[in-house]
This record gives sequence, C-alpha cells and structure tokens, in this order.
Amino acid sequence: MKAIVFHEFGGLDVLQLEDVADPRPGPGEVLIDVAACALNHLDVDVREGVSRFPVDLPFILGIEVVGRITELGEGVEGWQVGERVMPFLMAMCGECIYCRTGRESLCTSAGFISFSTSGGYAERLACSVKHLMRVPEELSDEAAAALQIAFGTAWHMLFTRGRLRAGETVLINSVGSGIGSADVQLARLAGATVIGDASSDAKLARAAELGMDHGINHATQDVVAEVMRLTDGRGVDLVYEHVGGELFQKGLDSLGKDGRMVICGGHSGEVVPFDIIPFFRAQKSVIGSFVYTRDEVETCLELARRGKIVPLVHDVFPLADARGAMSTMEQREQFGKIVLKP
Ligand SMILES: [Zn+2]
Repeated sequence: MKAIVFHEFGGLDVLQLEDVADPRPGPGEVLIDVAACALNHLDVDVREGVSRFPVDLPFILGIEVVGRITELGEGVEGWQVGERVMPFLMAMCGECIYCRTGRESLCTSAGFISFSTSGGYAERLACSVKHLMRVPEELSDEAAAALQIAFGTAWHMLFTRGRLRAGETVLINSVGSGIGSADVQLARLAGATVIGDASSDAKLARAAELGMDHGINHATQDVVAEVMRLTDGRGVDLVYEHVGGELFQKGLDSLGKDGRMVICGGHSGEVVPFDIIPFFRAQKSVIGSFVYTRDEVETCLELARRGKIVPLVHDVFPLADARGAMSTMEQREQFGKIVLKP
C-alpha cells in the first residue's frame, strides 16, 4: 500500500510517499480501508520529535481515521466487511481503577492507537475491534474524520470537566481552531451565552455564523476589558482555555467569582506566571482536562447525524500531498480541520 512515512524527525521534507507492506489483521483485529484522516497539531510534534511520546522510526502519522472494514481477523464477531467505522484514538487498558470506574480518560497505561498500530496517513491500517465505533451514513467521510478530537475534547471539557449549564456565559479562547469551533456549537446547543476570541475578524465572523454571541479580536482588543463590558462587570462562569501563554492569565482575569477555567493545552506557552491573590479571593477554579471517552464521541456522532452539530472541514488533500496538508495546518490560518484522502 501507499503510505506517508518518515525515517527521521524534522520538518515537512522528512515526509515521504512510499510503498510499504500491507498491514494484516491479527486476532481480534480488522483491516480498514482508510477513507479520510484528519490532521492534528500532535502530528507536527511527533514528526519533529518533540511530542513527549515514545516513537519508533520509521513512522506513519495519523490518529483521526474513518474507513470501511475490508477484512476480519481471527475471532472477530459483531462486525462485518463493508461497515464504516472510526477507531477511538486512545488505547485504554480496561483494567486499571480508572477504566473500571468509567473514567477511562485517566487510564494509567493509555496510549494513542497510532503508536501501537500504524497511522492513518496510509491506504490501510489494522486495528483492534475494541476501538471501533460505527459512523452514521448521514456523515461524509471527511466530516466524520473531523469530528472525533474536536467534538470529543469540547464535550469533555465543557460538560464533564467544566460542568457548563444552560444560562451560563462561557469565554472560548482561540475560537477559530478546530476545537474552538466545536465548542461554540456545543455551548450554544446547551443554552449558554458564548463569547469567543480570535486573532482575526474573519475567524470571528465564521464563529458568529456557528452561533457565537459576541466576538473579541485579541490582536486589537483588550480581552478582559471586553469580557467585563459584555457581562456588566461580572465576568464569565467558564473559560475554555487551550492556548496557554498570555491567554492563561487573561482567562483567569475574565472569570467571575466562583468561575471555572478548564484547560487542555498550552501551545503558546506551557509554563506561565500566575497571580495567586485575586485567584483565591474570588474562589476561582482551574481544571485540567485530557482527551475524552468513547461515550462522549458516540454522543457527538449522534448529534451530527441529527444535524445538530456540523464538523468543519477547511480543506481536503490527496494522501500524496501530505506535505501541503501539514504546511497548511502549520500556518494556522484555517477554520476547521485539514483532511487527507488516500
Ligand atoms: Zn486503564
């Protein structure tokens, strides 16, 4: 099969289109013909060798895959050739205290599937049936590939960790990102008032089309002052933070009393200063969030099937142009996900 492979860590030029041996489904696995694979910033970190995950070279990227089953391995029951599926991207042990108590996103030996199987920048991959979720036929391959990480992460952060309720006000940082645009849709669906910030008016206009109530351009406006103006000086109930850097303190300062800030990333600055005094006096909370559960993704698949949410695809590239696809994502100008199609 054709696959995008890299043999050393580095920039876009380490990616090579190569013929590699077809994967074979082992016991309990199926072979999947990849129909679409969405790109993620984690892919860039892995390619550059800075992801903090162990990687054996050569390596095939791609953790967000949709495809059809073409072959069943030994002992597989309950799945059929031709079914369209999406692998849940985390590998959980199923046995630790967290897996046994329904908190699988805290699994003590969790990993990403592309680190134990091969990745989705390829024509085929073999995958354990334990990962498989059915994809409703109402969704296109590209839309389905764009759903899992954006909406799974947004759901886990907004509702499971952030406990967002109808009538509350939420500030979503970097609303133009894949996760941010999913947040707008879910927060709006839940009956919250949605304030979003982004680096350009064009991204704010797109977010407004998805239901964002108020936009703040953080390149030209003072985020905290605008939030206070929009909330009559009260501040928001929840801040959705995934950027880091200076937006961390601005997020804290945008919270009202007893407000919560939920965090799942820090690309713009992973170690930040933190003003402790106003934080404890106003009894604010900072909450960490990591990945999501299968149930949360399946809930989002059902909402997408009913047309309540729409996964956003910025552009689709052929597998052979993985460099062009990654380059587009690394420029961070897109609204929605970049998708590869073999
Ligand atoms: Zn576990």
